[in-house]
Amino acid sequence: MHELSVAQNICDIVQQSVPKNELADVRIVRVKLGTFSGVVADSLDFCFSAISAETPLAKAHLEFEHIPFAVRCNHCQKTFENDIGFMVCPECGGAETVILSGRELQVTEIELENEEEKTI
Ligand SMILES: [Zn+2]
Repeated sequence: MHELSVAQNICDIVQQSVPKNELADVRIVRVKLGTFSGVVADSLDFCFSAISAETPLAKAHLEFEHIPFAVRCNHCQKTFENDIGFMVCPECGGAETVILSGRELQVTEIELENEEEKTI
């Protein structure tokens, strides 16, 4: 299962980015996820929960920023988005297009529980 290794990767990234004694305070891990990253958000979320359950990251969960599939036409310079991976320009029918986004799979932010919330 692809999502399992991706979830393991995310765990590793968090553990490398956050000091050991603060790992238990991690609440949200933000992940940029392109439409064509090849990863299903729900599966990834599930795998992350399974992997982190027995670790200091048990209280952390993933939050996804979904990135649409976007393409720019080299002929008319228009950009367009779709969810089906369509590469031909809807404006001029040009096939010389460049993928701008949609393949992202990247941890962008790690949020820790802040001190104020802890005292409540
Ligand atoms: Zn075009």
